[in-house]
Amino acid sequence: MSRQKIVAANWKMNGNRELVEQMYHGLNQESFNAEQQVIICPPAPYLASLQANISNNQVAIGAQNISENEKGAYTGEISALMLKDLQVQYVILGHSERRAMFHDSTELVAEKVAYALASGLTPILCIGETLEEREEGQTESRLSYELAPVIAKVGIESFKNVVVAYEPVWAIGTGKTASAEIAQQTHKFIRSYLASFDADVAQQVPLLYGGSVNAKNCEELFAQADIDGGLIGGASLNVEEFKKICLAV
Ligand code: PEP
Repeated sequence: MSRQKIVAANWKMNGNRELVEQMYHGLNQESFNAEQQVIICPPAPYLASLQANISNNQVAIGAQNISENEKGAYTGEISALMLKDLQVQYVILGHSERRAMFHDSTELVAEKVAYALASGLTPILCIGETLEEREEGQTESRLSYELAPVIAKVGIESFKNVVVAYEPVWAIGTGKTASAEIAQQTHKFIRSYLASFDADVAQQVPLLYGGSVNAKNCEELFAQADIDGGLIGGASLNVEEFKKICLAV
């Protein structure tokens, strides 16, 4: 079965107006494979100008987080409905940096996924193990621990509208990419875990690999059977390199 191929850029707290301009000029000129989706997730202040200037209909905009609340006295927070208002289509949820630094627990991530789906946003749900967990043979239990509360909250059927990104914590921003073999093995496990709830849905969910992907290593990773694209951090801040990664998927 052919799944949508996706390359998503996570700028984290990086970038400025100059990068926004370089990005939309660069991406508007490029023609990607017809079945492919490119997603740019800039910091919130740049969402509106990117959205307004992207004319390539294969490029969508995503946010990096949402509040689990709809509106009200939550200073500093951004609601899913505000993002919808800006025609944002995707939101990264459960990134390991948010889990580690901003107390996004597995339950809170599940609530945010539910709220994103109810608001019409597609969550890019990040899961991944630490180096210690991998070395202790706990990768699979960590991944199921992060997936289970989301499945319990939204139901497996809703995963038809969810993108899952496998991002081993030890590979994020470290230059240590998982080998294509390890990444494929782990993606295969994630798909089989989803299949234990519903085999058809599991076949439809795009699974992205994230963790030090660059223009040199992306081809081998993207060639793996269960890897449907990538979530790109550092290498997405360089327009030319990011375009090469998009074209490799
Ligand atoms: C990320 O933060 O989602 C990520 C994959 O970062 P990097 O590509 O820089 O490792």
